[in-house]
Amino acid sequence: MSAVPAVRLRARNEHAVRPAGRFVLYWMIAARRTGWNYGLQRAAELARELGRPLVVLEALRLDYPWASARHHRFVLDGMAANAAALADEDVLYHPWVELERGAGRGFVEALAREACAVVTDEAPGFFQERMLRAVAPRLAARLESVDSCGLLPLAATERVFARAVDLRRFLQRNLRPHLAAPPLADPLAAPLPPVRGLALEPLRRWPRAAPELLARGGDALARLDLDHAVEPVDLVGGQDAARAALRDFVAGRLAAYGEERSHPDRDVSSGLSPWLHFGHVSAHEVLAAVTAPEGWTPARTGGTTSGAKAGWWGLAPSTEAFLDELVTWRELGQHFCAKRDDYDRYESLPPWARETLEEHAADPRPHVYTAADFEAARTHDELWNAAQRELVQSGRMHNYLRMLWGKKILHWSASPREALATMIELNNKYALDGRDPNSYSGIAWVLGRFDRAWGPERAIFGKVRYMSSDNTRRKLRLNEYLATWGAAQRTLGF
Ligand SMILES: Cc1cc2nc3c(=O)[nH]c(=O)nc-3n(C[C@H](O)[C@H](O)[C@H](O)COP(=O)(O)OP(=O)(O)OC[C@H]3O[C@@H](n4cnc5c(N)ncnc54)[C@H](O)[C@@H]3O)c2cc1C
Repeated sequence: MSAVPAVRLRARNEHAVRPAGRFVLYWMIAARRTGWNYGLQRAAELARELGRPLVVLEALRLDYPWASARHHRFVLDGMAANAAALADEDVLYHPWVELERGAGRGFVEALAREACAVVTDEAPGFFQERMLRAVAPRLAARLESVDSCGLLPLAATERVFARAVDLRRFLQRNLRPHLAAPPLADPLAAPLPPVRGLALEPLRRWPRAAPELLARGGDALARLDLDHAVEPVDLVGGQDAARAALRDFVAGRLAAYGEERSHPDRDVSSGLSPWLHFGHVSAHEVLAAVTAPEGWTPARTGGTTSGAKAGWWGLAPSTEAFLDELVTWRELGQHFCAKRDDYDRYESLPPWARETLEEHAADPRPHVYTAADFEAARTHDELWNAAQRELVQSGRMHNYLRMLWGKKILHWSASPREALATMIELNNKYALDGRDPNSYSGIAWVLGRFDRAWGPERAIFGKVRYMSSDNTRRKLRLNEYLATWGAAQRTLGF
C-alpha cells in the first residue's frame, strides 16, 4: 500500500509496473521541488519496493506558450536549487534544457523503454495536461500522474464549483480527512537503492544542462531561442528562495494580512504565487508554516460548515484570511481547469455573465485601446499605467490592482472577447505566476466567473461587477506605489 493517498494517483495508460525494469523514473513537470511532493514520494516508494534506483528528470522545453527569458530564468533557478538539494542523495537527478526547438522529442519515450514505471505530476491547465495525454499511449512503461496541486485532491469530487462560497462549504465539510495525509517533508529520508553505476543511453543522447545555464550570470540563456524582450527579473526561483520568502512572510507580514493586504504601499501579501505556480513550494508546506506559530492541528477545524469565510480553521483571523486565498481561491481555479477543457474560452463564462455582456456589447466606450496600447501602458489613467508598468518590469502586480487592471481592460476594449484575449496575453506574457489556473480564475472573474450579478446595471459591464480607479485611489494607500511605478520614473520601451 502506498502512503500517497489513492485519490491522488492516476494511471495514464494500460501498462502495469514492470519489476524487471532498470530504474523508476520521476518526470518532474509541475511540482518542481524535492520536499512536500507526493509525486517524488510515490516514485521513491516504488523504487524502494522494487529495489531499483530512482532517476529524476526535470526538463525545460523551448516551445511552451509565452516562452521567455523571464520564465526560463525562474525555472532554471529552480533546477539549480534541486541539483544542490539532490547532490548528496542516492538519486540520479537529470536537469535537461532544450537548446533547439524539438530536440526533446522522444526523450521520455526512450527512457521509458527501460523504466519500471514513469511517475509524473498532475498539472491542470497550460500545456502539461495536453502533453501527458499525447505521451501516455506512446510510452512502453506505466505512466502514473500524481496530484500535488493542493489540499483537496482534484479527484475528491466531480463537481465544478461556480462560486468560492460553494467550494468553501464543500471544503468545510470534506477537507479534514485529506489534511491527515500530507506529503512527506523529505520523501528521500529513508534509504534508496544505490544509483551508482547506472548508465543510461538516453541520458548521454540528451545530456544534462550545463552548469552555466543553471547559474545566473553569463550569456548561456541569451543564446536560447526565446522572447528575450521579456527579461529576467531579480526575483530568484527555486525551493530555497521560496522557503526564505515563506519564512519572511510568516515572521513579518502574516499578522497584518487580514486587515492590510489590499494596500499596495507596504504590501503585506505573501508574494508566493510565482513559486507556487512553478511548484517550487507546496501548498501543504505553506499551510504547515503559517499554522506552526499557533500550534495548530487539523483537530481544530470544524467551527462552521456554512461556507463563511472565517471560523472553520480555528486560527487567528489573519491566518484564516490568508488560507481562504491559498486554499479556497487557489483550488477553485485548479478544480475548474482540471474539469473544464474550455477554461480559457469566452464560452466558459457563466450564462448570466455572457448574456449581460452581450446586451451591452454595443454600448459606447469612453476610451478604446488596442492590446498594443495596453501593453505599452498608454492609457489616460495614471494608476492603470503604473500597474501595467509594474507587471512588465517586475513580473508581478499587486492583487487589488490586478482586479482593477482587468476591469479597466474590459471597460476600455472594443468588446468583452477582445478584453479576454488582451488580459490572457499580457498576464501570461509578463507575470511570473501567469499561465496558471489562477491566471484564468482572475481573468475570468473580471468577466463574471466565480462572481454573482451586481446592481445597478451599468454601461458596458451590465450586471458584471464594476470597479473604478477613483474609488481605488480613495480607498487604498498608493503614494509610494505611484512614486515607484508612476510615469515620471518609468517608461516602457515600446
Ligand atoms: C486579472 C487577474 C489576473 C490574475 N492572474 C493571476 C496569475 O496569473 N497567477 C496567479 O497565481 N494569480 C493570479 N491572480 C490571482 C491573485 O491576484 C494572485 O494570486 C495574487 O495576487 C498573488 O499574490 P500573492 O502570492 O502575494 O498572494 P497572497 O495574497 O499572499 O495569497 C496567497 C496565495 O493564494 C492564492 N491567491 C491569492 N489570491 C487569489 C485569487 N484572487 N485567486 C486565486 N488564488 C489566489 C495565490 O496562490 C497566492 O499566492 C489574478 C487575479 C486577477 C484579478
